[in-house]
Amino acid sequence: MKWKNQIVNLHAYQPGKSIDEVKKMYNLKEIFKLASNENPYGFSEKVKKVLEEDATSTFSYYPDGYATNLREEAAKFLGVKPTQLIFSNGTDELLQIISKALLEPGKNTVMACPTFSQYKHNAIMEGAEVREIPLVDGNHDLDNMLKALDHQTAIVWLCSPNNPTGTYITNDKLMNFLQQVPKDILIVLDEAYYEYVDADDYYDALSLIDKYPNLIVTRTFSKIYGLASFRVGYGIASEEIISALEPVRQPFNTNVLAQKVASEALKDQEFVSQCAALNKKELERFYDFCQKHNLHYYQSQGNFILIDFQCDGDDVFTFLLSKGYIVRSGKQLGFPTSIRVTIGTSEQNSGVIDAMKAFLEKQAIKN
Ligand SMILES: *Cc1c(COP(=O)(O)O)cnc(C)c1O
Repeated sequence: MKWKNQIVNLHAYQPGKSIDEVKKMYNLKEIFKLASNENPYGFSEKVKKVLEEDATSTFSYYPDGYATNLREEAAKFLGVKPTQLIFSNGTDELLQIISKALLEPGKNTVMACPTFSQYKHNAIMEGAEVREIPLVDGNHDLDNMLKALDHQTAIVWLCSPNNPTGTYITNDKLMNFLQQVPKDILIVLDEAYYEYVDADDYYDALSLIDKYPNLIVTRTFSKIYGLASFRVGYGIASEEIISALEPVRQPFNTNVLAQKVASEALKDQEFVSQCAALNKKELERFYDFCQKHNLHYYQSQGNFILIDFQCDGDDVFTFLLSKGYIVRSGKQLGFPTSIRVTIGTSEQNSGVIDAMKAFLEKQAIKN
């Protein structure tokens, strides 16, 4: 078959292990998944109500491809025009739409490294050159990212807070960067963890959209809103960017239930701020653990933490798995001696912290 050259060596996304898989493997009763930065508190009660009421909807019609209700709710909530929004089957799909619209052989795209894997994956699929600029102390190296831009650069990706480090770009650094990026290069600012951020010197991305017509901000209902399985993400940008991207989007990319739960979820900001506050409190327990055991970590503005165990990340991963905790080995994330742990509920965190302690004790005996 005549596969595109660029996909021959491309690997399919490796999802974290499923709960059922691990239960069987280790004969455990209870498994906690702290691997994909989902919300451990589930989703809003308001959403639950909609789901209960809506079980009898007709599903035989195609959904509203323009997601009109969700669009209007989101526009009101964000303080932008409905025409400044694009909705997608998770942010993942939006990242793909953006890449399809701009990347092709002969063009290049600039991103940090390590960062969210999909930027690179999509770029390879489109046959574009990928320019990865190493993080410095866990942070985007914006100066070197600027230096990497040239006339063939079509997209520059910023992930803030960055997955997997949890670090963020400060307001001053972002302003300086935006001012210097040529106007014909699209800047994608991925804010999947926006709602968790509480740093004082974080920027207000939406206020920048009018000033920078080459900026698109992406957010998601998968993380703090606790709706990952519904797959809804969205982008906020100038009308020019949105109208250029719209034709690349599949006509019915968000389904009828997903649109409904997402617009309901927006109305419960109380739930969102409660989850953010709990996350912040629980994150402190991981900092304490790391400090006590001299493990390097990054201060995180997300709902996850990257911890360096100074040994093969897969070994830590496998040990925690045997105790019933699914985390993410840093091996696949560009940090081979680390693991990334999603901040869970208080009980889950006590459990995974105990399991990490047990791992360290085992290591100490071995050495
Ligand atoms: C989880 C995540 C996404 C993808 O979110 P979906 O809306 O579920 O596709 C995008 N970017 C980053 C940085 C993420 O961590």
